Amino acid sequence: MNSTTSLALVSVAGKLSYPPRHSAFTQTFWNGLRSGLWQTTCCEDCLKLTFPPKPVCPHCWSTRVAWRPLGSVGTLYSWTRIHAAPAAFAGEAPYAVGIVDLDDGVRLACRLTETEDFVLTPGQPVEMLVLLYEDGPLFAARPVQGPA
Ligand SMILES: [Zn+2]
Repeated sequence: MNSTTSLALVSVAGKLSYPPRHSAFTQTFWNGLRSGLWQTTCCEDCLKLTFPPKPVCPHCWSTRVAWRPLGSVGTLYSWTRIHAAPAAFAGEAPYAVGIVDLDDGVRLACRLTETEDFVLTPGQPVEMLVLLYEDGPLFAARPVQGPA
């Protein structure tokens, strides 16, 4: 597939409205994301991926987990546009968020960035990207042309 593990980096003016929590364990994820590295944890016993990354496999409770690159492409499962935002995000409204099914089998929720070239609709092919705020990275998805 056309998936890569180095995500496009898009600079965003200003600071994160609600910075994600970083734990000692997930710091690896956030540090990598800053330079476009898209990865999560994979269980070395049952071989299942977990997102967000976790030090214990939620499928079989194994603690033998390893970092593994994630594919960047997937499909939009569902989405919405938020007009009445929580206070922390009020300055960014309206904005779109969605649920993405990555081709790797991981389902995640994230911000969606929009262009006039695509209509957001379930089934729309998307790719992950990194929004680089002044104080840290955030992963997001944007619609892309599907495979011909
Ligand atoms: Zn497992």
